[in-house]
Amino acid sequence: MQRDQGSGADAESAGRRGRGLVVAVDGPGGSGKSTVSRAVARRLGLRYLDTGAMYRAVTQLALSTRTDIEDADALAQLAERAVITCGTDPDAPTIAVNQVRVDAEIRTRAVTNAVSAVSAVAAVRRRLVAQQRQIIEATVEEAGGIVVEGRDIGSVVAPDAPVKVFLTASTEERALRRSRELGERGEDDVARTLAELGRRDQLDSSRSVDPLAKAPDAVVLDSTGMSADEVVEQVLKLCAKAGFAVPAASSPGRPA
Ligand code: C5P
Repeated sequence: MQRDQGSGADAESAGRRGRGLVVAVDGPGGSGKSTVSRAVARRLGLRYLDTGAMYRAVTQLALSTRTDIEDADALAQLAERAVITCGTDPDAPTIAVNQVRVDAEIRTRAVTNAVSAVSAVAAVRRRLVAQQRQIIEATVEEAGGIVVEGRDIGSVVAPDAPVKVFLTASTEERALRRSRELGERGEDDVARTLAELGRRDQLDSSRSVDPLAKAPDAVVLDSTGMSADEVVEQVLKLCAKAGFAVPAASSPGRPA
């Protein structure tokens, strides 16, 4: 995506940001990253990458091959051999492992509850971070930019991203959103999801390699009580502030 020359961006920041727009969206589970990231990508005509789906894909492969998720060496080997393919269309993102689509399989409760153990393995992260950087580089080249969501995008994967957001929301609201996504209705379900979310937050934030962290230059957006549209507008404002042209809501499309 071309920078908006009329915005008065300075030479230093233009050098740091290069040609494309990378929007890094980090935050804990249920903070609304996916909905917001996809909407921002659509509005700006950019690609979209869900890095959580990649960790989930390795986890799903581990579970389906009965690999011990406590065995870091076995997981490292598994990740090394697996061919993970990510479709980056924000309207229809896809994920495949060894040419087999696993879009639904990676969303099961079993995968969700095992993924933090897998994503804590340094060799798994090295492999996936390298692939994420390749995807970012290729899509910036091809499509002008990409919105990337995860836990360590602004801090590790794309530290030079011109727009960095750390999206958060109260734990209760995040659990409610997750429960709704899972089609749950009862109070017990929400309580269970709340407990699982808390465990995952704790594991993701405390692991020694690339934990969930706000990059020092990321802007914190607390989406508690906000609609997805309101959060999207806030992110688009940050893109405009960084010197990128933001088309009006009624005229989505690829940037010039
Ligand atoms: O975003 P999502 O909830 O699908 O992420 C699933 C898991 O993948 C997280 O709980 C975390 O353990 C891991 N993850 C990560 N780094 C990322 C994205 C996700 O460690 N960049």
